[in-house]
Amino acid sequence: MISVGEARKIILDNTLPLKETEACKINFCLKRVSALNIRSKENIPPFDNTAMDGFAVRARDVKGASRENPKTLQVIENLPAGYAAKLSLKPSEAIRIMTGAPMPQGADSVVMVEDTLCDERRGTRNEGRGEKDEGRTEYVRITKAVKKGENVRYAGEDVKKGEVVIPQGATLKSGHIGMLAALGISEIKVFREPHVAILATGDELIEIGQKLAPGKIRNSNAYSLYSQVLQTGGIPLVLGIAKDNKRELERKIKKGLSADMLLVSGGISVGDYDFVKDVLKDVGTEMKFWRVAMKPGKPLAFGLMPGTKTNFGARRRIPVFGLPGNPVSSMVSFEQFVRPALLKMSGAKDISRFHLPAIAKDDFEKKKGLRYFLRVILENKGGTLYATLTGPQGSGILKSMVLANGIMELPEDMEFLKRGQEVEATYID
Ligand code: AMP
Ligand code: MG
Repeated sequence: MISVGEARKIILDNTLPLKETEACKINFCLKRVSALNIRSKENIPPFDNTAMDGFAVRARDVKGASRENPKTLQVIENLPAGYAAKLSLKPSEAIRIMTGAPMPQGADSVVMVEDTLCDERRGTRNEGRGEKDEGRTEYVRITKAVKKGENVRYAGEDVKKGEVVIPQGATLKSGHIGMLAALGISEIKVFREPHVAILATGDELIEIGQKLAPGKIRNSNAYSLYSQVLQTGGIPLVLGIAKDNKRELERKIKKGLSADMLLVSGGISVGDYDFVKDVLKDVGTEMKFWRVAMKPGKPLAFGLMPGTKTNFGARRRIPVFGLPGNPVSSMVSFEQFVRPALLKMSGAKDISRFHLPAIAKDDFEKKKGLRYFLRVILENKGGTLYATLTGPQGSGILKSMVLANGIMELPEDMEFLKRGQEVEATYID
């Protein structure tokens, strides 16, 4: 039996990123992995502009300005966003300017409109012409001094031309999508999504539409695994249910050989009808390990199976997981082992969950030598994270996965968890 850490290392060492890429329109890129370093060909913003509605000025003209002692400037032009100023600013002049409009020549800062006293004239503007009302000399009183550069957004202050904005291996979030649009990029290269075949095993299993009969239960693992694969950015491939006999197992396992990864649920333990390991070996799998010191989920087999040629190219060895049949063990094992492997296969650089310290709300007794993964409800109370058990922690209590938003990890050497003790937890929502 090996430790959770050792198992994870063996799995990751034996799982390689897919190389194939595909073009993807940015509206479809959410959660996909960038296959290239994406460099900006432009500065963002492309020109110096104002961050505020107000008046573009020369800072030295309004030095010392205050409510009691305002400085009066002549307004020579009105400048909405989207247009360049026609005039350049001379001493004691101001240009009325709207957020996003380019800084006029001669101006070095912007006084926000809240720090000015304007003439009664408001709300009229000569759209786009950058002119002010005809035949009227207009003044603004500045009631607060500004520093040089105040309220100015400089060209390239967000992104510099030539900068790598999205590195290869980044998992794309909404921010990335907006940034790509800002850079004028409508399509990028992403890694293709791994295909993950899922096979449930067990004479006791029936499908959703079938009638329950004595001794039978519904196949739920294939569905939780299906959704876990989806959530991790893979494409699930359903192989159905195999009965606990070697011939049928082999026939159905072979259907998974064209996928990039195979998950087999159940039949991996020490029961009289647990044939999955034998069959995996029969089809040429190089088994790396089959038991991990953890709870839930001790039986867990991992190996490399010789795959068929895929549509995408060369023959490759397929990582295959024999996952425990108990519903919670299956999901927790996915979370701990399959998820990081699948993310690595997707080309993603960021494959680990964020670990947070939390205060346990329950006492708990555990077996020494095993790492425990308890299902908890994490709550933030006054800046402290608390972890409350979802209830009974048996590996068949699927409700614990329904209620949980987190997993609390108890290290191997711990024997008792005391209420109030600090533990490590991860959000899994
Ligand atoms: P096994 O790992 O095959 O010994 O199964 C352990 C437990 O998990 C047994 O109680 C099985 O009935 C249950 N089990 C196995 N496969 C599934 C499945 N696909 N869906 C729900 N429960 C399952
Ligand atoms: Mg079974």
